[in-house]
Amino acid sequence: MPEDINISTVRDSFRESLASAKSLQELDEIRVKFTGKKGTLTQLLRSLGKLPPEIRKSTGQELNTLRDEIEQSLELTGKKIRDTENENQEFSQRIDVTLPSKGRKSGAFHPVLQTMHEIADIMQGLGYSVASGPEIEEDYYNFECLNVPAWHPARDMQDTFYFPDGTLLRTHTSPVQIRSMLKYGAPLRIVCPGKVYRRDNDTTHSPMFNQMEGLLVDKNVPFSVMKGTMSEMLNAFFGKSLRYRFRASYFPFTEPSMELDIECVECSGHNPHCRVCHGTGWLEVAGMGMVHPNVIRAGKIDPDEFNGFAFGIGLDRMAMLKYGIGDLRLLFDGNVSYFMSGFGGAESC
Ligand SMILES: [Zn+2]
Repeated sequence: MPEDINISTVRDSFRESLASAKSLQELDEIRVKFTGKKGTLTQLLRSLGKLPPEIRKSTGQELNTLRDEIEQSLELTGKKIRDTENENQEFSQRIDVTLPSKGRKSGAFHPVLQTMHEIADIMQGLGYSVASGPEIEEDYYNFECLNVPAWHPARDMQDTFYFPDGTLLRTHTSPVQIRSMLKYGAPLRIVCPGKVYRRDNDTTHSPMFNQMEGLLVDKNVPFSVMKGTMSEMLNAFFGKSLRYRFRASYFPFTEPSMELDIECVECSGHNPHCRVCHGTGWLEVAGMGMVHPNVIRAGKIDPDEFNGFAFGIGLDRMAMLKYGIGDLRLLFDGNVSYFMSGFGGAESC
């Protein structure tokens, strides 16, 4: 046995190490240091045979006692450390069921979709049904049936996206008029909301936009019904009684045709610097007219027996006017924070 190490020194050293142990890993290092293959205590036990016989037995007993003490202490301290770690883990993972919840942000309809629902609701109240049709359309339904044959100059009014097979992205919701007449016959009252596509892309035009078509076919439909329906719809949508102005216009599928202006919903014509109407006091909102007999005929309905009117409005423009959205692009760039912040006032980004 080395002379500079005695049993009480080893015991003190062990107790000191044990007192500072904070983790199972540190505890294991202590175990190796004292009772491992090359541990201090193990070395001492191995050197017993070199001791004089008269002290060998008593030293052996002392060393065995120390080994028992070390093993028991390691086991006891290990249990304490494990208990503490378990408690800490339970504490960090505990769930306080009394805490208030974080809440959940509810979703909302896109302003254009909301506008679409609102106008469709109003029209359903006037006895119209909601119809739909394909966005990839045949030339026949998009143009031919609507009194726009291939040679017709009106085709230049609408730059069209064509597919190689001759089909196209519908340029208006009007093909649904034909499909509905063919499917349901007359009398008929429908609105058809949906996406339409044209080769336009600048600050005031998007290659995809939303339109709503309306069609009424019945016997002896007077012009005044169209005017009454439009004013009823727009008054209900904007929540106030507006002034209207009908201007003569041209569409191949209606005769006579006209465009509808409403008084500026922002300034009612009282602000020469109005950002919405640019001081004119009027806003163009819809195109319409009495359905051309050729279109009625294309719907397999007799134009001598039935007539009607049709209109088309831009839903994006309606949404912008109602909700004060200053830039068309905001409707399509997916910036949810703009709409969550209450629309107007935000700059385009
Ligand atoms: Zn104005």
